[in-house]
Amino acid sequence: RSLFRSDRAALEADLREAVKQQQFTLHYQPQVVGTGYLTGAEALVRWHDAELGNVPPSLFIPLAEESGFIIAIGNWVMGEAVRQATLWQKAGRPVVVSINVSALQFQQPDFVERVNSTIRSAGLNASLVELELTESILLKDANEALARLHALADLGVSLAIDDFGTGYSSLAYLKKFPISKLKIDRTFVMGLPADESDRAIVGATIAMARALKLSVVAEGVETAAQRDYLRELHCAAFQGFLCSPGLPAADFEKLIASLPKAGGAP
Ligand code: C2E
Ligand code: MG
Ligand code: MG
Repeated sequence: RSLFRSDRAALEADLREAVKQQQFTLHYQPQVVGTGYLTGAEALVRWHDAELGNVPPSLFIPLAEESGFIIAIGNWVMGEAVRQATLWQKAGRPVVVSINVSALQFQQPDFVERVNSTIRSAGLNASLVELELTESILLKDANEALARLHALADLGVSLAIDDFGTGYSSLAYLKKFPISKLKIDRTFVMGLPADESDRAIVGATIAMARALKLSVVAEGVETAAQRDYLRELHCAAFQGFLCSPGLPAADFEKLIASLPKAGGAP
C-alpha cells in the first residue's frame, strides 16, 4: 500500500493500530529570537508506519480529530513532551516546550486535571509548558472555554494562539482570555516581504499584539529576507526552516548547544 493510494478507511485502521502500539515520536522545532537564541521549542508529533513510511501530520491529524483518536494521541504527546521537558530541566538546560492541543482534546472534561497531574507527577516547573490552542476551541462554548483557560493559566502554564488569523477570529477574546502569545500563521509569512496584503496583515497583527501586551512569534520563516522584514516590524521571534525544522530530541540538543546564549546581542 502507498500513502498516495490508501483510502480513508484503511488509513483510519492504520491509525487505530498506531495508537494501540504507540508508533509515534516527537520532534522539537526551535523558537528563536534575533540571530538565534532559543526561547522555546514546539513539540511536533511524527508517525512512522512500516508500510506507509512517514505520514505527514497534515494528513493524519485531521483524520485523528474526526475519528476521536486525537484524544489518545494528544494524551501521549502531552506525557512525552512533559517527560522530555523534565529531562532538560534536570540537566540544567530548561526549555519551554510548546504542545499543540486540538479542540476535541481541550473539551475533554478532565483536560485541565490531566495537564496538572502530568506536570506535577513529572516534577516539571509549569512555566516550562506552553499550550498552543487554535481559535476553534472557542467555537463550542465560549464561557466554558474561558473558565478552562483561566484554570490552565492558574496552573502556571502559558497559552498561545496557534495559526492566528486563519480561524473564526473574534478579536474580543484577545482581551478577555489569559493568552500570552500569538503565533502568526505561515500562510501570511510566506508572502513577505513582497506581498502587499501579507505585509498589511502581519504588520497589523504585530501592532495589535504589542498594544495588547502579547508576545508574537512568526511561523514558517524560511528566508533571511522574511526574518529581517519581521524584525523591522518589531517581531524578532520566529520559528521556521531558516533556523531549523523539527528534530528528534538528541539532534535538537546538538543544535541548541551551537546557538548563541541569551544575553548575547539579539
Ligand atoms: P503547527 O502547530 O502550526 O506547526 C507548525 C508546522 O509548520 C509544522 O508542521 C512544522 O514542521 C511546519 N513548519 C515549521 N517551520 C516551517 C517552515 O519554515 N516552512 C514550512 N514549509 N513549514 C514549516 P507539521 O509538523 O507537519 O505539523 C502540521 C500541523 O499538525 C501542526 O501545525 C499542528 O496543527 C498539527 N500537529 C503537529 N503535532 C501535533 C500534536 O502533537 N497535536 C496536535 N493536536 N496537532 C499537532
Ligand atoms: Mg503549533
Ligand atoms: Mg501554527
